[in-house]
Parts: sequence; C-alpha cells; structure tokens
Amino acid sequence: MSANLGNNLDPWLSAYAERAHTLSVSEVRALFAVVSRPEVVSLAGGMPYVSALPKELLEKSYTSLMAKKGDLAIQYGGGQGDLTLRDQVRELMALEGIRSSVEDIVMTTGSQHGLELLSGLFIDEGDVVLAEGPSYVGALGIFRHYQAHVEHVYTDQDGMSPEALEESISRLKEAGRTIKFLYLVPNFANPSGVTLAAERRPKILEICRKNHILVLEDNPYGLLYFDKPVPDALRSMDEDGVIYLGSFSKILAPGFRVGYVLAPPAIRDKLVLAQESAILCPSSFSQMMISEYLLNSDWQAQIDTFRGVYRERKDAALGAMREFLPKLHTTQPDGGFYLWVTLPDGVDSKAMLPLAVKELVAYTPGTAFYGDGTGQNKLRICYSYPTPERIRLGIQRLATVINLQTELLDTFGTKGAAN
Ligand code: PMP
Repeated sequence: MSANLGNNLDPWLSAYAERAHTLSVSEVRALFAVVSRPEVVSLAGGMPYVSALPKELLEKSYTSLMAKKGDLAIQYGGGQGDLTLRDQVRELMALEGIRSSVEDIVMTTGSQHGLELLSGLFIDEGDVVLAEGPSYVGALGIFRHYQAHVEHVYTDQDGMSPEALEESISRLKEAGRTIKFLYLVPNFANPSGVTLAAERRPKILEICRKNHILVLEDNPYGLLYFDKPVPDALRSMDEDGVIYLGSFSKILAPGFRVGYVLAPPAIRDKLVLAQESAILCPSSFSQMMISEYLLNSDWQAQIDTFRGVYRERKDAALGAMREFLPKLHTTQPDGGFYLWVTLPDGVDSKAMLPLAVKELVAYTPGTAFYGDGTGQNKLRICYSYPTPERIRLGIQRLATVINLQTELLDTFGTKGAAN
C-alpha cells in the first residue's frame, strides 16, 4: 500500500492533474528516515561507495577545467550535451562492443532522466511495457506515472527467458494490447543481481524485431564486473531496435547526475527536443568536470578500485548468508550491488521490515520491484555501501528476524507471522 500524493488537508487536491495521483510515497520510504540512523545497518538504498573515489582527482579536474574553459562550464550548453564528453562516452561504450557516433548520443541528467524522457515520448495511458520480474523500482515509478501497464516476464538466474517473452507478447497481442517497449537491465540487474546470458541476447532481440518492439537497454552496472567482462551489449547487435542507456553514477559518482542515451537517429532527434523542452540542457558544469576527469585521471584504474570494493562486499554478504541463513536461496551476482533473497513461503518481507528495523537492520522488500503486487517473500540486499563487517552484522541481525518469523509460521501458520 502507498499513500497517494495529497491529502484532505491539501487545499489544492482537486487541482492536480490526473497523472499526479500516480505519484506515491511508499510506506517503505517512510521507514527510511529511521534507517539513516547510524546504529541501523542499511542494506536498503542502492548507494555507490563514493568514499573509494579520491577527491584529489576531482580537485584536479576542477582546477584544470576552470583554467581552460571556466566560463563555458558555468554557461548554458547544447541540448544534446557536451561534444567532447559525447566522444569520450563513445569510447566507454566501445568497451561493451558498441559502435556509435557522437551524433547519436544524448547526454541526460542521470539515466533516470533518460528513462523519464523516453517514457514521455513513447507511453500513452494503458500501453504495455514489458520488463524483467523483478525490475528496477525507479523505472517502474516512471512507467506508472505515464499510466503504463507493466507486464513482468519470467526471469531466472540467466536473465529474462526468451520463451516466456514470446509467450507474453503473443498473449498480450491476442488481448489487443499495445506493447511499447521491452525494458531490460541486462547486467547485474537491480534488484536481482542476475546477468542476461550471452546466448539469450540474440534470441530476445530477434523476438522483439519480429514483433516490432523497441528495446530499452539500461546498463549502469556493466563495467562493475567482479571477474570477467559482461557479454556484448544488446545495442551492439541491433542498432535500429535498441535504445541504450548508460550512466556515470556507478563508475564515478551519482552527485554529478550525468547519464547518456544512444538512440537511433529519429528517436535521438525527438529525445533532444524533449530534453530541451524539459530542462533546456543538461548541466555543463557536471559534464565538463567528468570530461576533464576522463582526460586527466586513470579512470580505468578507478573502476578497478570500485570493482575490488564491491567484490569484497559481495563476498561478505554471500559469506554471511551462508553462515546465518544457509537455507535461503540467494542469487550469486558476478558484479554490481545486489543480492535477491527468497524467504520461506508465507513470510512477507514488507510486513517484516519494521521488525527488522527494530533489530537495527534494513533491506528493500520485494514488492517494490513489481508493478503487480507480487514479490512478498523476496527481498533485496544492497551490499555496495556498508563495510564488510557491517554487512555481516546486518545479515546476522536479519537472520534473527527471519528465523523468528519462520518459527512463528511453523508454529501458528500464517497468522502468527508478520503479514
Ligand atoms: N537504472 C538502474 C537499473 C539503476 O539502478 C539506477 C540507479 N539506481 C538508474 C537507472 C538511475 O541512475 P542515474 O539516474 O543515477 O544514472
């Protein structure tokens, strides 16, 4: 359940647009005020560990930027984004097999903004968006805002199932529904941590091509692999049918709010117009700071540092799961920030959250990652931010809560457990 925007005390309640009522504050978010207390181990929010980025590197970028083009950095820029940075983004995407031209790249205010602009371009009320099950909560919020119906497609440890995708498409088409796009987080997905297997990628593209369905490939985590690079991007296999979204939030820092979209030319033109209409241009200052950083620092070494930090934390999280909750199934990510945990049948992760917070640990309940209310017995653990010691402590505390819930369930049935 979520509290809708506005309440009876709001004198402007009747003035809001219909779509404003799709904006909601979840009960989970309300709990997050408590979660930020230092004694609570938060395995909830998906925050990058920015302390692993030496601030001298940014000071260096700032000094050099101000000396070279200080006035430009604090001026309005072009709606499509900074040309030098777009060229650097081209090189970044080439690491995942993508060939692109600077012409086709649009810089955005984080990839979240790219998702928002694309949703505004494509979604009419009642349209269907296909997505993994579970899928990224921030994207689901946007799709809901544009009044799309999100259809989750069965997803396992190898990512979305092509057979299930085909089945969903034909069922929806038979029902006369309009499918606007397939939204995918193919690498170390948020929230599941799973990666779409290499052999499934061409199959998924072929199914979408056959059915004239666009693919939105959202890839903020791809470079944060632990051991081996991810399979080539979907965009590298289909330049006409895939819109690719990238971000500097996880490989540098989210505070810059810089992301990018690579789109087929006609869509790119619309995207630039939508961007200009919404915000005139993305931040010149942030883009140019990043451009200087890429030029002057060993950014690949910095990504290696991040990989090392996250690998250690993933090991701490999985180790603690084996130690304290050995019977629970959890995904085994090869990169990124997240574990997806399945609780015993009947344990409701949302109802259990206040009890967990009382035990001084927090996580994100599974229902946040579905548009259809499912995921009650799932939860997401984000291991990117706390130290390995805190992660272990957090999972130990979580085990106390889960084990108590399970015992209550075994003794009294569903009524005894938090539900
Ligand atoms: N997509 C996914 C899958 C994410 O996890 C996030 C951030 N958590 C975003 C997009 C948005 O990232 P940003 O706007 O910071 O680039």
